[in-house]
Amino acid sequence: MARVYNFSAGPAMLPEEVLKTAAAEMLDYKGCGMSVMEMSHRGKQFEGILAEAKASLKRLLNIPEDYSILFLQGGASMQFAMVPLNLFGKTKKADFVDTGTWSLKAIKEAKKYGAANVVASSSDKKYSYIPKLDAAKFSPDADFFHITTNNTIEGTRFAKLPETGNVPLVADMSSNFLSEVYDVKKFGLIYAGAQKNAGPAGATVVIVRNDLVGHALDITPTMLDYKTAAENDSMYNTPPCYSIYICKMVFEWVEKLGGIAAMQKRNEDKAKILYDALDNSKLFKAVVAKEDRSLMNVPFVSPSEEIDKKFLAEAAKEGLVQLAGHRSVGGMRASIYNAMPVDGVKKLAAFIGKFEKENS
Ligand SMILES: *Cc1c(COP(=O)(O)O)cnc(C)c1O
Repeated sequence: MARVYNFSAGPAMLPEEVLKTAAAEMLDYKGCGMSVMEMSHRGKQFEGILAEAKASLKRLLNIPEDYSILFLQGGASMQFAMVPLNLFGKTKKADFVDTGTWSLKAIKEAKKYGAANVVASSSDKKYSYIPKLDAAKFSPDADFFHITTNNTIEGTRFAKLPETGNVPLVADMSSNFLSEVYDVKKFGLIYAGAQKNAGPAGATVVIVRNDLVGHALDITPTMLDYKTAAENDSMYNTPPCYSIYICKMVFEWVEKLGGIAAMQKRNEDKAKILYDALDNSKLFKAVVAKEDRSLMNVPFVSPSEEIDKKFLAEAAKEGLVQLAGHRSVGGMRASIYNAMPVDGVKKLAAFIGKFEKENS
C-alpha cells in the first residue's frame, strides 16, 4: 500500500527518510550485528547515539551551556507533575495561563503540590483564542510561570511569549517543538513529548536551566527528580533507547533541511495554504482567532456532523487520513507537523475545494 498523508495529532507522521534509515539499520546497526533495540544502553554504540542526539538538538536550538538536555519517559503528562515537584522549591506558588485541555491538566497536577494561580483563561470562548495577559496579575514571587506554547486540541498558539521577569518561564512545547524559532534563554524549562514533532512515543525531551535542578520537594520520587537524570546523563536507568535513536535522526533531518528557521518558513507556507483554503470556503470554517492560529494543528468545522462524516470518509479514500477532530471538540483537525510534506497540505487544500463544489 502506498503511504498516506497522515494528519494525526500524535503519534504523527515521521520523515520518510528517517523511517527508511531505521528500516535499513533494523537488523544490523552500523555493522554491530544487532538492532538498536537489542543493544545495551551502556555500550559504546548507544552512548554515541545519545551524545549525537544531544549535540544535534543543541545546535538546532542554540541551547546555552548552562542548560541540560534530558531524555525522560512518562510523556508530557509526567511533566505536569515533575515540573511542580522540582520547581516548587521556594514559595510553592506558580502562575498558569489556561489555554485548554493540556494546560488544565498541568494546573490540576500542580495543585497537588502547591498553589496554581490562573492569570488568564480563554475558557469563555471554548479556548478559540489566546487570552491577553495582564502583568499586574502575575505573582512576582512565583516559583514558575507555565504556558502551553501550542494548544494541540484547540489549535491556538502563543504568537508572543509573556514577559515574566525573574520568574522562570516553563513551556509545554509538545506540539510545536522544533517547528519555529525560540530563544531558549527566555525559558527556565521546556518540555515536549516526542511523538508530535520529534520522534516516536516513549521519549520526552526536557531542556532545563541548571540552577532549577536540585531543589525538588522531599517527597519527589528519585525517578522524578531532574537531578537524577541530569547527573546520570539520562541514564540512571534504562532510557527509551529506540525512541532516542529515532529522535536523533529526526533532529539531524531538521538540520539537513536548514535548521529551525527554514523549518518555520516551510511550516508558515504550509499553514497559509490550509488556512487560505478554509477562509475561502463557504462550507468549512477555521474556528480559531486569526492572530492566534497554530502552525501545527488546524481545527475546522462544517455545518453538520453528516458533512463531517462524509468529508472524513471521502478524504480517507484519497489517502488523506486521521482528520477527525479531537473527541472533545468534534469537527475536523489537520495536524501538519514538520514531517508533513507541502504536497500533503496542497492535496488537502485542493480536496477541501473539490468537496465543497460537489456538496453545495
Ligand atoms: C500530546 C500533548 C500532551 C500529552 O502528551 P503525552 O506524551 O501523551 O503525555 C501534553 N501537552 C501537549 C501540548 C500535547 O500536545
